[in-house]
Amino acid sequence: MNIIDGKAISAQIRAELKAESDKLKAEKGITPGLAVIIVGEDPASQIYVRNKARACEELGYYSEVHRLPAETTEEELGELIDKLNADKKIHGILVQLPLPGHKDEKSLLLRISPEKDVDAFHPYNVGRISTGDYGFLPCTPAGVMELIERSGISVSGKNCVVIGRSNIVGKPMAMLLINASGTVTVCHSRTQNLAEICRSADILVSAVGKADFVKADMVKEGAVVIDVGMNRNAEGKLCGDVAYDEVAPKCSYITPVPGGVGPMTITMLMRNTLYAAKTSVK
Ligand code: NAP
Repeated sequence: MNIIDGKAISAQIRAELKAESDKLKAEKGITPGLAVIIVGEDPASQIYVRNKARACEELGYYSEVHRLPAETTEEELGELIDKLNADKKIHGILVQLPLPGHKDEKSLLLRISPEKDVDAFHPYNVGRISTGDYGFLPCTPAGVMELIERSGISVSGKNCVVIGRSNIVGKPMAMLLINASGTVTVCHSRTQNLAEICRSADILVSAVGKADFVKADMVKEGAVVIDVGMNRNAEGKLCGDVAYDEVAPKCSYITPVPGGVGPMTITMLMRNTLYAAKTSVK
């Protein structure tokens, strides 16, 4: 059994991105710039935003964080997005979700220029993902693909099962696996015979959000298991969806939590920001 080291792979990719970004600066005078908008005081969101700003600093990107009070109106948020859309220093715009106070997240995300949509949530970019004509890649699924590819695992022709069908993880994950020539099944809360379907997986990706959800009897001997889940167990410790201790001995490869998929998401955001900066040169 091999443990896929997300921290090490993420560090390797960040070094590659830094080299590319330094080159872009030296040759074209462009510094990749990311603007993050955070509304309200949600503690988890505050940590994510801090980590994003820190990653920008590490790679020598320009970053700005717009901290707005929870009472900010949709119109005010929209005006800020318009301003950032027009700002030449900014190549990527990210609105930290969830937004407090029942704001219309969909229409705000639509307002971000597709060329600056580094989260790849805009329908234009979602469409490009489904046609395999890649621009921005959705961060968490793209991180999973990097973990798989850089571990030397081929997806082509493999039975891939994704548990979860969210717009952020499950659906784009399935698209990327299809585009890599996997034979893909997507499961969700209405799926019948879930354990049986999971046992058919050569590559099993779990994005459910429930601790200890994937048990050993759901996993085939020799499978690759990728755990996207980020949950807290009864003791408050960070854990994934997979009952790691019982599942790991059956796997050829497995990602731990923490230290698997988690470190990759922000790294992929950094990759998208660099891509936006590069493609901003007409
Ligand atoms: P989500 O929107 O809540 O989606 C969860 C999915 O799991 C849904 O499609 C749901 O099915 C399915 N599900 C729930 N119970 C199930 C069951 N009993 N059997 C089969 N499927 C079931 O969550 P998400 O945003 O995709 O995130 C999933 C997990 O990934 C969370 O733990 C989240 O924290 C984590 N995450 C991690 C990262 C990272 O960077 N590592 C990034 C994003 C998310 P229905 O559609 O039928 O309800």
